[in-house]
This record gives sequence, structure tokens and C-alpha cells, in this order.
Amino acid sequence: MHSVSRSLKSSGKKIGFVPTMGYLHEGHLSLVKKSKKLCDVTIASIFVNPTQFGPSEDYKKYPRDIEHDNKLLKEHNVDYLFYPSADEIYPSGYQTYVEVNEISKKFEGEFRPEHFKGVTTIVSILFNCVEPDYAFFGQKDAQQAAVIKQMVSDLKYDIEIVVCPIVREADGLAMSSRNVYLSPEERTKALTIYKSLLYARKMIEGKERDPQKVIGNMKVIFNEEKSIKLDYIGIVNEYGFREVDFLEEGNEYYILVAARVGNTRLIDNELVRL
Ligand code: AMP
Repeated sequence: MHSVSRSLKSSGKKIGFVPTMGYLHEGHLSLVKKSKKLCDVTIASIFVNPTQFGPSEDYKKYPRDIEHDNKLLKEHNVDYLFYPSADEIYPSGYQTYVEVNEISKKFEGEFRPEHFKGVTTIVSILFNCVEPDYAFFGQKDAQQAAVIKQMVSDLKYDIEIVVCPIVREADGLAMSSRNVYLSPEERTKALTIYKSLLYARKMIEGKERDPQKVIGNMKVIFNEEKSIKLDYIGIVNEYGFREVDFLEEGNEYYILVAARVGNTRLIDNELVRL
């Protein structure tokens, strides 16, 4: 990977990088398309990263289909696929981790304590292998994108982070590799998440400026759907991922939701601009 990247750079090519865990869908492909637009060469990676899964999480059963992924990437004219094994990335004796403090501890970090440490470690390793000029992440994982931006700033990576909008199914469910876990009934119930986000957006567009009132109304929607277990709802500012007491004109906010539908944990969000 180093030698490919070095020779591309020496011929003056701008490298765009799309890191994924595979089982690709239109959400991933939107990042590829953005990279193709902005960069000369697009490199995608597929690596189901063990260090970002908790001990009781779905690392083993996470969906994988390298042949189909490879075909999709070829169809979208991705130039290189970086597909390392877990042993290559974390050989025995591996002992270095990258941790972003404050921003990693809340929301997802509360429910998945080691998750972002695994994410920042693998993204850091992948950045060192690929040495991209641009890296593309989805707004679907808004907190992850914020954590990565913080890491890139703190560790002085010379990489531009581009965050691309959420790609949804026709009925509004955010695309996710984990959606395959949902039964048809759960799939329908999962729509409550997007419904609550749209309701929140409507309240804010209707000039509600108290985030707690918005969150309160979203909770009412979830209370009517007993089979969904809410992990959290939050409203944070876009630039620092901080909770606020008041929504100010001219700012951007993420409305965040994480919920479990049966055994499947889903996250989603909506970005509102005031
Ligand atoms: P993953 O394979 O789940 O680790 O995701 C790889 C990248 O694709 C991450 O930057 C995700 O945020 C992004 N991504 C996943 N789902 C979507 C989606 N529905 N829309 C846009 N980006 C997405």
C-alpha cells in the first residue's frame, strides 16, 4: 500500500480514501462517488475492525461479502481496494492505540466504551498505510466523523476530511450494513427512528429553540412503540458535538438517536441549519 501510494503521489495524483467495513450499499458508494469527483485516484478499504467491537457485540457475525463488494467497487471504477487481514493490521505483540478523549466519551461512547478507541486506532493505521489527501466519511456516523476530525486536527494529519450526507432507503430508513439483521416486522418498526427525527426537524423549523422540548416530544413518539429501546436522544452543535441549552440562529445542530430494535442497534441523525 505504501509503495502504491508513494508512486501515485510522485506522479502528482490526489488520493481519495474511503474506509469501510464492507457489505457495501449505496451509502458507501456515495462516498466513492464524492471521492471520484474530488480526487484523481480513489482507494477504498474493507476491514472489519475487531478493536471497535465490544466483547458482547457482533464482530463475528458482522455481514461480509468480499466478492460482491469487489464487484461493486469495480463497477464504480474504484482504483484500488485495500483489504488487509486482521493479523496484518494487529500482529501478535501489537500494543499501540490512539484515543481521542472528551468527544469519544459521550453518546456512542457511553454505550460502547472502547468503540471510538478502536475506530481512531484503525483509521490512524489506515491513514498511515494509504496516505490519502482526502478521506470520506458518512454523516450517518456523525459522532465518528467528529472524532476523526478531532484526531486529524490534534495529530496534524495533512488530510482533508469530507463528510457526506446520509443515504436512506425510499421509506427513510438510513442505509446500514446492519439492516440485514432486521426481520420484516422490525424493519417497519425501525422507521420510528426517522419519524422522530423528522418530527424534531419540524418543531425546530417551527421555531422551537429549547432542545429539551424537542427531545421530550421525540420521546413521546418512542413511548408509543414499546418494542424499540431507546439508548439516547441528543441535540449537539455541529462543530464541537456539545449539548446546548438553546438553539441559536446561524448555527448547525445534529439531532442524534440510538435505539435497539429487537437485537439490532441502530443509529441515525438529522442535521438542521438555523
Ligand atoms: P461502515 O462500513 O459501516 O464502517 O461505514 C463506512 C463509511 O460509510 C462510514 O464513513 C459511514 O459513515 C459511511 N456510511 C454508512 N452508511 C451510510 C449511509 N447510509 N449514508 C452515508 N454514509 C454512510
